[in-house]
Amino acid sequence: MSLANELEGLIRTIPDYPKPGIMFRDVTTLLQNPTGIRKAVDGLAEAFSDIDYDLVAGIEARGFILGGALAYAQNRGFVTIRKKGKLPHVTLSQQYALEYGVDHVEIHADAVKPGQRVLLIDDLIATGGTAEAGMQLIRRLGGSVVGAGFVIDLPELGGARRLEGLGARVECLMR
Ligand code: AMP
Repeated sequence: MSLANELEGLIRTIPDYPKPGIMFRDVTTLLQNPTGIRKAVDGLAEAFSDIDYDLVAGIEARGFILGGALAYAQNRGFVTIRKKGKLPHVTLSQQYALEYGVDHVEIHADAVKPGQRVLLIDDLIATGGTAEAGMQLIRRLGGSVVGAGFVIDLPELGGARRLEGLGARVECLMR
C-alpha cells in the first residue's frame, strides 16, 4: 500500500464541522495510531531530505505536533507560529483573510535570525492563507522558507499552488 493510502485510512472525516458544508479532515485518529504518527513524521522528513534547514516552524495547533516531532527527529530547533495573543514576549503579527473577516498569526520577534532556513509545517493546506501568513512572518524576520510540508492537501482550494507562487517548495503526503 502507498504511504498516501495508508495515511488516508487513518484520517477521519467529520462532515459539517466546524460549519455546514465543511468536510473536516481530522488527523487526531492518525496521530493516536503509533504507525500513523511515525509514518507521517518520517514522510515529511523524507520529502525534504534533500534540502538543508536550520529550524522547523509549526502552525498552531496540529502543526506543533507534527513539526515538533520532526524537529526532534531531525535535531533541529522548533519555532511556534501561534494564534493572536498567545505568545508572551515581543511578537510580530500577520493578518490573513478568512472566508468572512480576518485573523492573525504571531511569532516571537527573536524566533528566527536573519539568514536562517526554515521548514514550515502544518497538518493540512486548504486555501493556503494560514501558511502564507506564517511564511510572511518568517520572511519579515529575515529567514527564508525553504519548504512547506503538510500531511494533507485539498488541491481544489489551491493553497499549494499559492505557496509555490510565493517561491516555496511545497510537499504534501496525500491529497
Ligand atoms: P487555509 O488557511 O485555508 O489553508 O486553512 C488551513 C488551516 O485550517 C490549517 O491549520 C488546517 O488545520 C485548517 N483547516 C482548513 N480546512 C480544513 C479541513 N477541511 N479539515 C481540517 N482542517 C482544516
